[in-house]
Amino acid sequence: MKPAGNSPRSVTVLGATGSIGDSTMDLLRQARDRYQVEALTAHSNVEALARLAREFDVRFAAIADPDRFDDLKQALAGTGIACGAGESAVVEAAARPADWLMAAVSGAAGLKPALAAADRGATIALANKECLVCAGDLFMQRAMQGGACILPADSEHNALFQALGSGNRDELTRVIITASGGPFRTWSATDIEQATLEQALKHPNWSMGQKITIDSASMMNKGLEVIEAAYLFALDPDQIDVLVHPQSIVHGLVEFSDRSVVAQLGTPDMRIPIAHCLGWPDRIAGPSERLDLAKIGQLTFEAPDFERFPGLRLAFEALRTGRGATTVFNAANEIAVAAFIARKIRFGAIARLVEATLDQWARDGNLAPLDSADDAIAVDHGARKLAAALLPQIAAKAS
Ligand code: NDP
Ligand code: MG
Repeated sequence: MKPAGNSPRSVTVLGATGSIGDSTMDLLRQARDRYQVEALTAHSNVEALARLAREFDVRFAAIADPDRFDDLKQALAGTGIACGAGESAVVEAAARPADWLMAAVSGAAGLKPALAAADRGATIALANKECLVCAGDLFMQRAMQGGACILPADSEHNALFQALGSGNRDELTRVIITASGGPFRTWSATDIEQATLEQALKHPNWSMGQKITIDSASMMNKGLEVIEAAYLFALDPDQIDVLVHPQSIVHGLVEFSDRSVVAQLGTPDMRIPIAHCLGWPDRIAGPSERLDLAKIGQLTFEAPDFERFPGLRLAFEALRTGRGATTVFNAANEIAVAAFIARKIRFGAIARLVEATLDQWARDGNLAPLDSADDAIAVDHGARKLAAALLPQIAAKAS
């Protein structure tokens, strides 16, 4: 629901200091009089959070790291802006009555606040794919029960959402999400195994946060997105295809029963899908560059390589397994990426740790249907512990 007349729309941004947060704040900045920012959150970057809170004259600012509360209070002294710290403060920010909310925390840490927004029936622009992969269709059920509207902000899913409008749901036969292929698209398996952190952080097309950039290099990001698409649009794994498209211009395609394929295109700029979510169901003016296909000249496509990028294979397997496997997949990947960033494991070990965690979880008899989001959170915690326990042996093993 949008407010009637010219009254400003109330919005909240979770993860305001990140890459998606930055793009969102940029869009809000372009039309200041149309938005009242209710709440902003960050993990530990007090300086950037306080700067944004002051600039947008927000009502509430939350910092997830409790050790930074005093700094936040000090940075906001005299402004009248209320603030809080810790996980509960981020949940409180999400629970406050803003009509539109951007969920852009990185990782499954975004699940509880996203659920709080879902429970109160907010319109949620969902960038935080890990929260959906962690809780799966339980998140979508909670959103439905709460009367929330979930708008996909991830570029591929936003593209599918836009293309889906061309037909009826029961006429859909397949969706295709594209992948740039990341910095290692043309590398040999041996070179990928040895890739450094610096090499993994050099994405060819998109400028993004650290975790998703590493996920793009391993193609775990595409794996997460396959799972995200399955839960968002209630699709079977067989209805989802991945297509490598190095130019990142075509973001997603939907095939209908008559074999028409409808695609969404745009320059690789996250402000385009975010603007679509912010304006929905209308369109707003966006600041992004216009697409100039003549200048780009060629759009190319390749099949993904499941051997060199085993993360993609594991994602499909976890989706088919169900019973909490996608939660385990996500949790193990978060542990693996953090270990790679801390230079504790090689790049190639990321997928090996995820696979070992999934295998051990199944062998331990832990696969079971999840009945609630709390179940998903418990599985997430258990899988993180297991991945951390398996880490030393994976780190020690050569490929
Ligand atoms: P960033 O790392 O740039 O930003 C993450 C944001 O979340 C920051 O505001 C960070 O605060 C905050 N944060 C991190 N950890 C926690 C925590 N434990 N509790 C509360 N807040 C936390 O990530 P991105 O913006 O790149 O990505 C955000 C989400 O959007 C991810 O799920 C990603 O997969 C998804 N996404 C991102 C895209 C992109 O282009 N960047 C594209 C599509 C999806 P602080 O700054 O203080 O650390
Ligand atoms: Mg994406």
